[in-house]
Amino acid sequence: MIDRITDIWGSRTPYAAGADWPARADQYLADGVAEADVAWVQSACVLCSMDCGMDVAVKDGRIVGVRGRTADRVNHGRLGPKGLFGWQANASPDRLTQPLVRRNGKLEPATWDEAMDLVVERSRQVIGEHGPLGMGFYTSGQLFLEDYYTIGLVVRGGIGTPHLDGNTRLCTATAAFALKETFGSDGAPGSLTDFDSCDTLFMVGHNPAETHTVLWARLLDRLAGPDRPRLIVVDPRRTKVAQAADVHLPVRNGTNLALLNGILHELIAGDHVDKSFVEAHTVGFDKLAQTVAGYDADRVAEICGVPAADIRAAAEIIGSARRLVSTCLQGVYQSHQATATACQINNVNLLRGMIGKPGCTVFQLNGQPTAQNTRETGADGDMVGFRNWQNPAHVADLARVWKLDPLQIPSWGPPTHAMQIFRYAQEGAIRFLWITGTNPAVSLPELARIRSILSQERLFVVVSDAFLTETGRLADVVLPAAMWAEKTGTFTNHDRTVHLSERAIEPPGQARSDMDVFLDYARRLGLSNADGEPLVPWQSPEECFTAFTVVTRGRPCDYSGLSYDKLRGGSGIQWPCNADAPDGTERLYTDHVFDTDPDECEDYGHDLSTGAAFERKDFVALGAAGRAVLKAAHYKPAHEPPDDDYPLLFTTGRTAYHWHTRTKTAHAPQLQNAAPEAWVELSPADADRLGVAEGDVVRVESRRGRLEAKARLSGVREGVVFAPFHFGYWDRDGDGPDGTPTAANELTMTVWDPVSKQPQFKGAAVRVERIADGGGVPAPAPTTTASEPAAGGLPPTAGGTGVRETVEQR
Ligand code: SF4
Repeated sequence: MIDRITDIWGSRTPYAAGADWPARADQYLADGVAEADVAWVQSACVLCSMDCGMDVAVKDGRIVGVRGRTADRVNHGRLGPKGLFGWQANASPDRLTQPLVRRNGKLEPATWDEAMDLVVERSRQVIGEHGPLGMGFYTSGQLFLEDYYTIGLVVRGGIGTPHLDGNTRLCTATAAFALKETFGSDGAPGSLTDFDSCDTLFMVGHNPAETHTVLWARLLDRLAGPDRPRLIVVDPRRTKVAQAADVHLPVRNGTNLALLNGILHELIAGDHVDKSFVEAHTVGFDKLAQTVAGYDADRVAEICGVPAADIRAAAEIIGSARRLVSTCLQGVYQSHQATATACQINNVNLLRGMIGKPGCTVFQLNGQPTAQNTRETGADGDMVGFRNWQNPAHVADLARVWKLDPLQIPSWGPPTHAMQIFRYAQEGAIRFLWITGTNPAVSLPELARIRSILSQERLFVVVSDAFLTETGRLADVVLPAAMWAEKTGTFTNHDRTVHLSERAIEPPGQARSDMDVFLDYARRLGLSNADGEPLVPWQSPEECFTAFTVVTRGRPCDYSGLSYDKLRGGSGIQWPCNADAPDGTERLYTDHVFDTDPDECEDYGHDLSTGAAFERKDFVALGAAGRAVLKAAHYKPAHEPPDDDYPLLFTTGRTAYHWHTRTKTAHAPQLQNAAPEAWVELSPADADRLGVAEGDVVRVESRRGRLEAKARLSGVREGVVFAPFHFGYWDRDGDGPDGTPTAANELTMTVWDPVSKQPQFKGAAVRVERIADGGGVPAPAPTTTASEPAAGGLPPTAGGTGVRETVEQR
């Protein structure tokens, strides 16, 4: 038995390039539970975008453990700490079990009828007085495909408002836009199996050791194997991934684009371009070459604060790669030139001609487990099935499937992004806001502003959630939601693998699935299609999934060959899955024909610097027509550079042990004990200057708010201050900092990337002061992750014993 809090990634099973990643079954059962006494129910983990295949152990109607599915292509049986222990949240006594309605300023228990009558009455009132544009909906990256597709149809087709977005805007909006800008459509080009055969890894702003722990286990096994791939890491923190790198570039926050332009410059100058590939399969090379010409390594070194020799060394490794996998995540996406940077990572692989072949791809990764589905179902700013909202034929086709007049589907302008939805609510244009499965009172930037928006008298706020979050505490109506394992549905990970998750137990009390709640809402509102039939024609998750297979037929994310039955029993399956590819599709663009046909593409693209949307004629003029687009942009300094008053740069992120605002993971004792409180990371040099010792309490202050927590002296870059964004106020029974502010987003800014509209969480100017002596007691930060003390010397974070690992001999 192994402590998987201490040993996050488990034991090594090394393998060589091109070999199968060995299977290892990870299993955890609650104390005293015998394996013979449990029934196993098929599912997958929803605590990051890997979506690892797992079975849920059920005994006497309760979940008592989990095991990884060795047959699953994603994880080959492995589970990380969140997957192994996170299920305990389902049985938490803190679960919401009945609706709450605000009466005389207080949330009080109500029946479903009372709550839904009120929701419907206020919806009718707002629609009557303000039209559909008075209605806003903000959803999640953690519901199921069936929930999203139902919400998307009800909101876009029934209510007719464009004000629907997901919190995926905070995590994967840039991934979607970067894919659309370069390849014409969303959808990961590659496959997790590309990690098995690559010889070079280029990881930008991506710390899989904590954000995708099972992916890091796979890479550790490659790194321990006989032909170790070379690894380049760009990250201002000395993460476990950075520690394993051949070249670590700890760039100054906000300078990613300069670095990528510098790498592209070196590739071109060093003659590392696959000219015949670029000529045959891309457009835009001349403009790209012209743009990056001014980014020689010496200039870039000055901008990014890393040695020029290291930039050249990184470019040399990439330039000599034969099979290159590049990845990026929030270090790129949550910055001010997010899409421009992410597109340059696509460009690196395109210049090398390394896409659509084994071991050659770029991963614009996701953060949340079902983020891909918000994009596919149109529950964020996209249209269903990767249709193009600017293409009238696509809108008409969707209207045909939905049996609606095309004019009923809002497509006269871009779907409203989350940051704009909150701005409209602030200004009074949106008067009704329904928030499902997310906690903006902790996760959005500039929290004082968000709390004031959600607290307005004139705004009617509905929150559907499994727990009473900080956001729920500000709502007018709170609806108890069924969680993972309490409802059946599907979800899709960041390499297009679709999993089925079966209902294993009953939801507690009166909790219902979000799909059921929106079906009820549509019924009560009397929403119908053009034939006078109920707008939403399905009743069960399986019927909804079948309808989704129909609406995606012929689109890039083609689900038409999938069914619940097909997803039962074995591994998840990658879309497109259809008559031509009945077993799914491992890799896109193997013929190097990209989705840039103007009639088919999902988006006509944008100016990467200004965000201005191109029209069809602009896109046609590019002449891509099946070729990938090499888009270029110049680096610009970030919005809020450090100055004398606020001399440090603040950045936020995650730890391996928690998920988002801890509404789930804090209810798993092993995870909560591993990271029980907020902390702040400083470099030893900054700490020394500020007179701060390990464990002292510091105040971090920006122009918008402050955060107080114990200091950890870690390997973060000098001049940069890091804090995890998980810690809000709900476990102090509050909706805001009534006392000590612990939410990192008190400090962040209301600014976003011009193309993807993803907020910038990684770069606000702050100052730090020591406000109390820690008495020599270390900060409550993990010692087994990037948060480990730079000086070492602290015992490993522990507490996850009882996990069994069984390596399968094949
Ligand atoms: S890597 Fe992600 S999906 Fe897999 S077990 Fe861990 S949290 Fe769950």
